[in-house]
Amino acid sequence: MLLIPCPYCGPRPELEFAYGGEGGIARPADPAALDDDAWGAFLYHRSNPRGMHVERWRHVHGCGRFFNARRDTVTDLFACSWKVGEAAP
Ligand SMILES: [Zn+2]
Repeated sequence: MLLIPCPYCGPRPELEFAYGGEGGIARPADPAALDDDAWGAFLYHRSNPRGMHVERWRHVHGCGRFFNARRDTVTDLFACSWKVGEAAP
């Protein structure tokens, strides 16, 4: 079973978590100033890399909090995780 390291609760089974998409995507400061292509890129364009990837996760059946994690998309191994608002380790 895959263990995901929640920064609040420690390692827990993957069944307790929900994937929240790619991490590190900041909302535009002035969304009204964007044209349709730029807004569409913010909403839908994601990198989907092969290898290390920064992701957002939520510990749905635990503390309920969102956090960031760095995961290898090839091996599914988590390298680290950190709380929202903190700098990546
Ligand atoms: Zn947790």
